[in-house]
Amino acid sequence: MEMKLPEEGKIAEVRGGKLEVPDEPIVAVIEGDGIGREVIPVAIRVADRAVELAYGGKRGIIWWELLAGKKALKEKGELLPKETIEGIATVKLALKGPLETPVGSGHRSLNVTLRKVLDLYANVRPVQYYGAPTPFAYADKVDFIIFRENTEDVYAGIEWKAFTEEARKVLEFLEREFGIKVREDSGLSLKPISKFATQRIMRKALQWAVDKGRRVVTIMHKGNIMKFTEGAFREWCYEVAEKEFSEYVSIGEEKPGKILVNDRIADNMFQQIIIKPWAYDVIVTPNLNGDYISDAAAALVGGVGMASGLNLGDYIALAEPVHGTAPDIAGKGIANPSAAILSVALLLEYMGWIEATELIRKALRKTIESGKVTADLAKPGEKALKTEEFAEEVIKAMEGL
Ligand code: NAP
Repeated sequence: MEMKLPEEGKIAEVRGGKLEVPDEPIVAVIEGDGIGREVIPVAIRVADRAVELAYGGKRGIIWWELLAGKKALKEKGELLPKETIEGIATVKLALKGPLETPVGSGHRSLNVTLRKVLDLYANVRPVQYYGAPTPFAYADKVDFIIFRENTEDVYAGIEWKAFTEEARKVLEFLEREFGIKVREDSGLSLKPISKFATQRIMRKALQWAVDKGRRVVTIMHKGNIMKFTEGAFREWCYEVAEKEFSEYVSIGEEKPGKILVNDRIADNMFQQIIIKPWAYDVIVTPNLNGDYISDAAAALVGGVGMASGLNLGDYIALAEPVHGTAPDIAGKGIANPSAAILSVALLLEYMGWIEATELIRKALRKTIESGKVTADLAKPGEKALKTEEFAEEVIKAMEGL
């Protein structure tokens, strides 16, 4: 089927190496599975109201629904139709809900496929405190932005199932060529980490740090054990800092007016963000570490219901909450839409619509600080708002700002 763009609105265009966003941009939307169908529509409602309040009708988003996941399977007979991928590549701006991935068998992750085919190599995940009830004493000190490499590592999905002909061939090759003996009943995964992909994510993180005035960039890796993948990641990251950002950074020691670039081993990093959150700022890391540390960091400020993300390529941005489809609460109307709302705010920030972005962030903070929260954040016995009620409160708070 041919891709058919909406009749209204305009496409964001790249001119002179920069993305130009029109006043009525077409933004692709994939609702996703599970709670995606609940949180994405309300995030759109909040975004539309913020844009209206900020620009009084001069700007407006034309949302264009594209299908993926269960809805696509039902309507188009496939999980990730070609026109969805082409549509995002064409309009360059997108919002996406979570898509289900079966564990151990079945189809590969559609999320991973989308990131790979669109070359969305940087997964940018801010973790900030919005006043949610938390047992963590230093929550208000948390202000991280995680740059997770998105296309490589064991996440690239190069793996061979135990007892298959493919696995047997790889095992045989390892023994014949390198004398490496691996148990014959093993499943195998390959962990590619390239200089190219490492350096472009580091470049993006450092550029972000320079543009937004951040203080520290920490490389998180397990290079003491996986020397030629994670160890090389560390080395190649430092190389970018030294060669391309020398006027902005100081390596290893704090210097006034300079961004400190340092590194931490992954396991240490998990305790560091808890005992000394103020010492961390921008965190750059390979794909798998980034997956783990994002949820752990989100837990410090209220959980994955609060964690937003932006997948960036050179000129394509796809915003999505960090959380998944949460099948245990899907369909009940109780999911926390904050992660989706903050993801749409990140997309607006990326588009340069700063006034609307700020309205959303301030209103969300005001709502949560006044004790209006969804069930995941409510203390035992306290009243919790449903997804839609919470979004209405955020809109009311925006109108009162
Ligand atoms: P998950 O969907 O993030 O859910 C884990 C738990 O976090 C839920 O059971 C729920 O906890 C809580 N939670 C998550 N989002 C919430 C929200 N908005 N509001 C309130 N509570 C929320 O992770 P999962 O269970 O590991 O994964 C489920 C499916 O999602 C899998 O198929 C996975 O592959 C997929 N997934 C997709 C993406 C993506 O599309 N980017 C990302 C992650 C996972 P309680 O049990 O406390 O209610």
